[in-house]
Amino acid sequence: MLFIVVFGVFTLIPLTLVVWLLVFAARRATRAINQCKACGYDLHSLGDRRECPECGRPFQVNQNGDVVS
Ligand SMILES: [Zn+2]
Repeated sequence: MLFIVVFGVFTLIPLTLVVWLLVFAARRATRAINQCKACGYDLHSLGDRRECPECGRPFQVNQNGDVVS
């Protein structure tokens, strides 16, 4: 019984945290493409507008039309 508790504390909890961090990083990485970094609003095809319509955060677009900041 003690083994199960020790196994759970020292293995499953850190493993859960690592998986959670990986999921968090993956979501953040996918958000970086054409989405507002503050609120996640899709900034794709807003024309000449350089400000998020949802939260007002300014952004810049590179030569390919991708949001870079
Ligand atoms: Zn925004």
